Amino acid sequence: MMSKSASKSKAALPASAARIAKKPFGTAAGQPVDLYTLRNASGAEAKITNYGGIVVSLKMPDRTGKFADVTLGYDTLEQYIKSSPYFGCIVGRVANRIAKGRFELNGKRYKLAVNNAPNTLHGGLKGFDKAVWTATPSVTPSGPSLRLEYVSADGEEGYPGTLTVTAEYTLTNKNELVLDLSATTDKTTVVNLTHHAYFNLAGAGKGSILDHKAIINAKQFTPADKTSIPTGELAPVAGTPFDFTRLTAIGARIDQTDRQLQFGNGYDHNFVIDKPKGQLGAMADVYEPTSGRILTVLSTAPGVQFYTGNFLDDSFIGKGGKVYARRHGFCLEPQHFPDAPNKPRFPSIVLKPGETYRHTIVFRFAAV
Ligand code: BGC
Repeated sequence: MMSKSASKSKAALPASAARIAKKPFGTAAGQPVDLYTLRNASGAEAKITNYGGIVVSLKMPDRTGKFADVTLGYDTLEQYIKSSPYFGCIVGRVANRIAKGRFELNGKRYKLAVNNAPNTLHGGLKGFDKAVWTATPSVTPSGPSLRLEYVSADGEEGYPGTLTVTAEYTLTNKNELVLDLSATTDKTTVVNLTHHAYFNLAGAGKGSILDHKAIINAKQFTPADKTSIPTGELAPVAGTPFDFTRLTAIGARIDQTDRQLQFGNGYDHNFVIDKPKGQLGAMADVYEPTSGRILTVLSTAPGVQFYTGNFLDDSFIGKGGKVYARRHGFCLEPQHFPDAPNKPRFPSIVLKPGETYRHTIVFRFAAV
């Protein structure tokens, strides 16, 4: 992976300068929603709401120490409720697609809402991204933290089992946004939680991400059909536009004539990360040349969905009235492979009573 040097913003403040503040953000279906501002001892800041666990903004320094908001999103809760392409949220109960909204578990058939015809996407009609979570703020030795809890009822969106979920964000004093996800169930179920930040390391609303350069720690990816359901095959990236084993501009090959790129309308694919099973490891680095910002994504999951904002268009008016057009943000969504409930050869996402699902995601920032 890329060598990293510490951010040049001077960590002049003591760790005790880290703090978290809360203010009202509106209501969702009559429930009050808040916006929490987390500030670490290096001056980095994250604004997170308990509606969908959405990271509304994330300010990180460039190579001169100048802060910019590097995540796409909206100014108001109403905009998130009205329509969002999953800006900055927690995705569940099952992230990514389930073919035709159907799966079988212990001989029983389950039917989910088809919200991305002909498939189910990101948990269904009302996934965890639209839930109001219970929030508990704190300041830990590593930085300010927001613990979110949500209980997903048995049968919610068609999934079996009451799922008790916690999502704990920590903005560390080393400029990492860490997300620790966990879940338990009272009936055998399926779980695949992720985070859906759209990044632009030059700053949200600063145009295309095609000149950002990426490395993805994957020798294989999961090719998909034209509805983005994996064929089940693990295919080598070598010799294809999916080879990001060396630092390459995201836009260098995105418009090549390639069946997989055509199906995804660009990159919208799951990469199989080369690292020991279940261990926290680096998945990808993305470098933005004008600001010098580098994002490193680490996770304990086996795969990462790399999505280049192919379905964004000029109709998305983001924070400060900025337009987020096609490919103005990219997502790296660490997760289990898409359609895992229907793919017996993919790592299982089945969770049984007595077990605890755990997934840690780290978005680590630096600048060179
Ligand atoms: C999916 C895309 C989808 C986007 C927003 C990504 O995780 O892979 O196909 O358009 O989320 O819904």
